[in-house]
Amino acid sequence: MESLQQKILTEGKVLSDSVIKVDAFLNHQVDPVFMQSVGEAFATRFAGAGITKILTLESSGITPAVMAGLSLNVPVIFARKRKSLTLHDNLYSADVYSYTKNESSQISISQDYIHHDDVVLVIDDILANGQAALGMIELIEQAGAALEGIGIVIEKGFQEGGNILRKRGIRVDSLATIASLENSQVTFQEEGPI
Ligand code: 5GP
Repeated sequence: MESLQQKILTEGKVLSDSVIKVDAFLNHQVDPVFMQSVGEAFATRFAGAGITKILTLESSGITPAVMAGLSLNVPVIFARKRKSLTLHDNLYSADVYSYTKNESSQISISQDYIHHDDVVLVIDDILANGQAALGMIELIEQAGAALEGIGIVIEKGFQEGGNILRKRGIRVDSLATIASLENSQVTFQEEGPI
């Protein structure tokens, strides 16, 4: 997605050879008009796949997921990283390890919102080592629902997540794939179709 690549180049900040900050439009401040076009891009790619639910993880996945849900006209569920007063039983839960924080956390969704007859699209902001995506897949498996694919706003192609998921036969569609962040320079992989 050309406009996303431009946004990353103009508003992203390379923090190291492996980390990019995109707080200006995705992770802190949100550009709603631009994010609507991100949602439309996911909807175009997954149109006709029979998606009935979108699953994401709080908090940064929520914006692209809601925009995709708006375009596909399906409900969006965000997995919670902490149990709350109102979310504590009848849960599906999975552990997610964060390499950046060097800690595991448990993510959960209520059993009320994903069922065995659902066809689920997972959406997330950034794909790095794939642990968040694997956690969400585990929740879908616990619900007995079908995983249609994973839509990612920014994939870091030099990290393992994409490989791990694609080797499992999972469809992973990333709107922009970063090949390298070396020398404070963002280089993209070739764009796929659309
Ligand atoms: P994974 O589970 O794929 O290793 O990491 C996924 C999550 O880690 C993303 O949803 C994002 O919140 C965070 N993350 C990983 N790498 C980066 C990065 O380079 N920049 C930002 N802003 N977040 C990242």
